[in-house]
Amino acid sequence: MDGPYLAAVDIGGTKITVSIANISGILVKLYRPVQLEGDNLAVPAQVDFLVGHACEQIGIERDEITALGVSTCGPFGIRDGELVLVAPNLCGGLANERGIIPNDWTEIPLQRELSRIYNKIHIENDGISAVTAERMFGAGKGEDNVVYITWSTGIGSGAYVNGRLIRGKNGNAPHIGHIYLVDDGPRCGCGNFGDMEALASGVAIARDYKSRVTAVDMTSEDVTAEGVTGGSVTAEDVFNLFRKGDPEAKSVITNAARYFARGLVSINAILDTRVFIIGGSVFMNNRHILLPLVKEEFCKSFPALSKDVEFRPSALDSYLGDLAALCLVMPDDWGRQWQEKRPWEFAPESIVLSTNSTLK
Ligand SMILES: [Zn+2]
Repeated sequence: MDGPYLAAVDIGGTKITVSIANISGILVKLYRPVQLEGDNLAVPAQVDFLVGHACEQIGIERDEITALGVSTCGPFGIRDGELVLVAPNLCGGLANERGIIPNDWTEIPLQRELSRIYNKIHIENDGISAVTAERMFGAGKGEDNVVYITWSTGIGSGAYVNGRLIRGKNGNAPHIGHIYLVDDGPRCGCGNFGDMEALASGVAIARDYKSRVTAVDMTSEDVTAEGVTGGSVTAEDVFNLFRKGDPEAKSVITNAARYFARGLVSINAILDTRVFIIGGSVFMNNRHILLPLVKEEFCKSFPALSKDVEFRPSALDSYLGDLAALCLVMPDDWGRQWQEKRPWEFAPESIVLSTNSTLK
């Protein structure tokens, strides 16, 4: 297999995924649950471990990697001119509820550590890298005014305005999930009360349903029939109950969709976009339920701003993580070839590494 090689790194709240590609396609992909123990260099060390392991799988050396594209959960801060992760879902020292995340980190010096090992790296938050990938290869092709939103466990986004990617001073624009929507609402993982993520995310849907059935009757047969007993209700359970006609589930999901749409109304008032691309597991698995609800609420808002806005589901969906990180460092000629041949559709199966695996 011929180089040059690019590495794609996707850092989420639960796992880190690494892929290596050359111009013909993705050669290897592997992931491992993210380990949040030890000092605050643990995450960059796991990235390097996974890149090393991926190189070993395809028989190349680490220094044959030309560039590393990193798409990660945020938000970011800047320390001594270099980007640091200040993410409450990774850093125990920033989390609202202490003790759930087994560390006391307040930041992760990702850029400093990775640039010690790799010559060329480009790090962006996962909303920004996702909109870049959708505009290059997916549902945003040819669009100069486009916003991508992920509707998943959390809510994130990235945006192009007049053909330019907007980043902001620390690369956090637009962190749409943390737009305030109501007074005295539930608390978000970020510490805000009543923001979009606290009201509409997958976590919010599960929490909202659980609090309602607990208040009414915790042993409701509908709930136990779904295997939803005791403390564990997932957003997917609530959507399944919705499909079976459960009125509480319907009410919870309709509310979440309404809040989600109001977040879009706010971001559209600021950015005057043309296309919203929506991805993420909560949306993609249930888009036939959610899209009509979101559109209906959105279209109730100020017509002069809302009438020419289009909604599209993510076209890259399960490929988005790899492509989002890769497109940050992909040369133009390579990008053009990929637009034509779509080699990501033929990527090999992911290799799952356990947390105690070590390099040979
Ligand atoms: Zn928030």
